Amino acid sequence: MIESKVALVTGGSRGIGREISKKLAASGVYVFVNYNRGSDAAAETVKECEALGGKAEIIGFDVAQSDAVNGAMETIKEKAGRLDILVNNAGISKDGLLLRFKDEDWMQTLATNLNGSFFCARAAAKLIMKSPAGRIINVSSITAEMGNAGQAAYVSSKAGLIGLTKTLAKELASRGVTVNCITPGFIETEMTGKLNDEQKKNYLSGIPLGRFGAAAEVGELVNFLASPSSAYITGQIIGINGGLYM
Ligand code: NDP
Repeated sequence: MIESKVALVTGGSRGIGREISKKLAASGVYVFVNYNRGSDAAAETVKECEALGGKAEIIGFDVAQSDAVNGAMETIKEKAGRLDILVNNAGISKDGLLLRFKDEDWMQTLATNLNGSFFCARAAAKLIMKSPAGRIINVSSITAEMGNAGQAAYVSSKAGLIGLTKTLAKELASRGVTVNCITPGFIETEMTGKLNDEQKKNYLSGIPLGRFGAAAEVGELVNFLASPSSAYITGQIIGINGGLYM
């Protein structure tokens, strides 16, 4: 259990973020479930957290807008009085091959995935540094470790998160804050739902465990990294990929 703690899960409304929110809420954490466009989905996540006996509420803001991020931290401070755990999970992917890749798609992907995580970490750190066991967990991707044709912006943004993780881990260690990064492989969500059957078959053939991961399994890993049990783990890049990358 991780009782008496407060968490912000960016992109907590759907997919992996929803399962992370549910797992934390079930562990006794008061969870702020962030969304950008889909308030209904965020409200559904809150409902599911409450059904597990947890406490949660929605908080809408665009992680790519630093003013909005700063405002959200103020709201959390007013409502909960503290923040112990930040999960930088919000992410988008805009795909395409290099020669045809549009400036706006590059900018938007970097703005959400990398700038967003930086803005949230910077704003949250003021509160998290006061926690007796602060935690920042960045959700990167296996593609940051392997590269992936057609995903220059996404992969670059996720690789940036690895550098950000190691740097913040060094900066915040003296305050007892740990900063870690997870690199999920193929996890079944709307994001992977875009793959066609042929692509899925190809990917599955390369996964030693022979299946895609479940978002709930990522929730379990994040919950562990958010818990007191992980106190001696910081600056680490932790794969959850069925063995696809070792
Ligand atoms: P989904 O597309 O299912 O969900 C994305 C979430 O991010 C939504 O809650 C969405 O909210 C939110 N979001 C998007 N843009 C913003 C923004 N600008 N500000 C705030 N919230 C935003 O994604 P997944 O659950 O599949 O992925 C979650 C994370 O895991 C991502 O960072 C992704 O890159 C990473 N990942 C996923 C893998 C997979 O196989 N699924 C593999 C490796 C990494 P809204 O709908 O309101 O916009």
